[in-house]
Amino acid sequence: MRRIAVLGATGSIGTSALDVIARHPQRFAASVLSAHTQVDALLTLCERFRPALAIIADPALLPRLEQGLRARGLNTDAAAGPLALEQAAGSELCDTVVAAIVGAAGLRSTLAAAEAGKRLLLANKESIVVAGALLMDAVRRGGAELIPVDSEHSALFQCLPQPAVGTGFGPGLRRLLLTASGGPFRGRRRDELSRITPDQACAHPNWSMGRKISVDSATLMNKGLEVIEAHWLFGAPAERIEVVVHPQSIVHSLVEYLDGSMLAQLGPPDMRTAIACALAWPQRVEAGVSSLDLIRLGRLDFEPPDTDAFPCLRLAFEAMRAGPEATTCLNAANEIAVSGFLQGRLGFLGIPALIERCLHRFAGDRSDGLEALLDLDRRVRDHAEAQLA
Ligand code: NDP
Ligand code: MG
Repeated sequence: MRRIAVLGATGSIGTSALDVIARHPQRFAASVLSAHTQVDALLTLCERFRPALAIIADPALLPRLEQGLRARGLNTDAAAGPLALEQAAGSELCDTVVAAIVGAAGLRSTLAAAEAGKRLLLANKESIVVAGALLMDAVRRGGAELIPVDSEHSALFQCLPQPAVGTGFGPGLRRLLLTASGGPFRGRRRDELSRITPDQACAHPNWSMGRKISVDSATLMNKGLEVIEAHWLFGAPAERIEVVVHPQSIVHSLVEYLDGSMLAQLGPPDMRTAIACALAWPQRVEAGVSSLDLIRLGRLDFEPPDTDAFPCLRLAFEAMRAGPEATTCLNAANEIAVSGFLQGRLGFLGIPALIERCLHRFAGDRSDGLEALLDLDRRVRDHAEAQLA
């Protein structure tokens, strides 16, 4: 029986993970569940999954969580705050951690799971963008089993020789090709993007996701973060990673070998496939995902990304080439820019502009170790916030 901590249980990935877990009560149990502020949603999940521990990240909400658990007669323990998340991820309560918190807020718990040698299902791509070297080092030291959940990286993982993660870019490989849907504004010119609203940006044509990653998909920053994620997971240098726009989101990514062979992983755009694959790996289990009807689909299209209309992808490549401080900066500036955009304080085109300004100012900083990177992360956030104001 796998005992699974679902961190970010109330989110889009958390919900998909719990859906897969619920399909296999003999195999999987949710032993720890967490949320940020949605106490009622967390309580509903506790009633259904009966975890040993429930964590609310916002400490002010702990009394409401405790009261709610008591009122429901549940013997689930309650805890609060970032430290509780970190401790639970590394504790005996779980052997598997689904890292599904959004943003750099997920970094410490992700690192703790890696250091404690858990099976780590990584959805929280921001943590690997902020501290890729530290995370991969923690995975090695802890003897953890990192299995990507991001659909592109799950595809690459499934197409690469095993072990695929943390073993470097093998000599038989030529390229990793990450597919991108192109987001809701694919095909539009830059000057057509200035009046985009948050709701338009969050209406993704193929995937249903949280609001932050939806905006990232619309700006193509999501693909930029994923390029950096692929670099760390699979040891691929920047020049061996390519992005190809594939509007149907059926081919989730491809690996090209030196002999000209290309392996791809296909499936309907449903995150439960990648989650079930990572939970059961190397076995395969039912995920509730319907079969792909290739005849009905008829065709698969591919085109190059437009980095003029969507400069975030270019900025991410530049940051990756510049080094780890630049990618920390890229992520922090992007988190502030996206939240500014969602709050109506920044236009859609202001997102790459703000990130580029932060990169100019901070990317040359040298920061050794986790605390220094987190300090850089804070300084970039403060600077970006000040620019918004
Ligand atoms: P959601 O916004 O839907 O969910 C985020 C979850 O994290 C919620 O449970 C939320 O709690 C919790 N959370 C938010 N902020 C904090 C915080 N500061 N501290 C602790 N917990 C917090 O996001 P998604 O599920 O869409 O995405 C989660 C991660 O997975 C992101 O890194 C994203 O890039 C990645 N990902 C998502 C995909 C998708 O299809 N959605 C695909 C591939 C990767 P609450 O509900 O209380 O706010
Ligand atoms: Mg993805």
